[in-house]
Amino acid sequence: MLASPAILDTAIDNAGPSNADVVALDRANVFHSWSAQKSLNPLAIAGGSGSTVWDHDGNTFLDFSSQLVNTNIGHQHPKVIAAIAQQATSLATVAPAHANHVRATAAAKILSHAPATMDKVFFTNGGADANENAIRMARLHTGRDKVISCYRSYHGNTGAAIAATGDWRRIPNEYSRGHIHVFGPYLYRSEFWAETPEQETERALHHLRRVLQAEGPQSVAAVLLETVPGTAGILVPTPGYLQGVRALCDEYGIMMILDEVMAGFGRTGDWFAFDAFDVTPDLITFAKGVNSGYIPVGGVIISGDIAATFDACVFPGGLTYSGHPIAAASIVASIEAFEEEDIVGNAARIGRDHLEPGLQALAEKHDVIGDVRGRGVFWALELVQDRSTRTPVTADYMGRLKAELFGRGLLPFIAENRIHVVPPAVVTAEEVAQALAIYNQALSAVSI
Ligand code: PLP
Repeated sequence: MLASPAILDTAIDNAGPSNADVVALDRANVFHSWSAQKSLNPLAIAGGSGSTVWDHDGNTFLDFSSQLVNTNIGHQHPKVIAAIAQQATSLATVAPAHANHVRATAAAKILSHAPATMDKVFFTNGGADANENAIRMARLHTGRDKVISCYRSYHGNTGAAIAATGDWRRIPNEYSRGHIHVFGPYLYRSEFWAETPEQETERALHHLRRVLQAEGPQSVAAVLLETVPGTAGILVPTPGYLQGVRALCDEYGIMMILDEVMAGFGRTGDWFAFDAFDVTPDLITFAKGVNSGYIPVGGVIISGDIAATFDACVFPGGLTYSGHPIAAASIVASIEAFEEEDIVGNAARIGRDHLEPGLQALAEKHDVIGDVRGRGVFWALELVQDRSTRTPVTADYMGRLKAELFGRGLLPFIAENRIHVVPPAVVTAEEVAQALAIYNQALSAVSI
């Protein structure tokens, strides 16, 4: 474990609960997401600062998970915490129908980093309902029903959002209609027998065109894509793919929705991940990094054309907490801190100068690393039993690796046969060096 910071020593002196106390209370009362409940043994987290978290027993961990890839600004950023406290003191809640200064300011701040074609922001409680409402807007704007998304994707855990999701979480929730899935680019495990990025792009676009034609393009309201599919493996799209999707959408009058819930607000080293791909969507969904999850919030950034559809016609959607003032205050403070501290620039530099070369060097040392991919502070190491067959390592291997990382003081993000290297966007070069040393030791300690 890492040495405990001074703030932690004070907290421990105050004799709060132990890890065992907290886990026992949790297991007696809390029902956890995406889990069979009985065998759970969660990590108790007591506090955090920047890229570090600590438990109740004095152990600290480098947080290279950013929790659920959301603490882009790091833990406990003082400016965001102060804004939350200040807003709680002045007005802790307000109905969405009222005008509210901090909400309007948050929307203006978000729009200031979005393409010029974007006109309005609709606030939601998180990422799933952002996608839900973006789909609703696209359907009402086009008068069409179907939504095309990728098998390798995650868009959230609500009706249409979970049906639009490609991974296993869709199947037990598949009760909403009109969702069609395609394969997107993933050169390492190409569905198209591609050997080059150019082939992957061309063939993935051909596949999308053929599915559109088979479905009847006049019935398709939207293509919904994660700009960089995150949970599915940080699948950076091959060059030209997103522009090709944009061109297909334009050809058939289909709305392009880019889900920036995980990839947006600095994660890829840009304000929005699509900034690097020369493409402008019609709707953008966001959550996580917009305020690092300090208060639950998400939203839809809406193009002028789509917003105009609802100038005279009622938008049939809303939420009690849409544009909650404390969430809005945290957004304003977070975006200001991003601007003042060049946090997006830090993510880009860390990715280019430290994570990319450091992870590539790890791959040279460890045959188990089959692929290294990512941008900014959004990287995946894909682990394989054999580089030639690309057979994924087993769940047992990943469990042992996770224990080794954890025991050395690193909180990892593990998904299937991958380590997602996803620290906060404020991570320092020293912290990356420390983490790379831990990944190296852990990979050396575990055999296939
Ligand atoms: N979209 C993407 C790309 C996500 O990664 C997630 C969550 O991980 C969601 C949507 C859902 O967001 P939320 O959990 O806030 O509903």
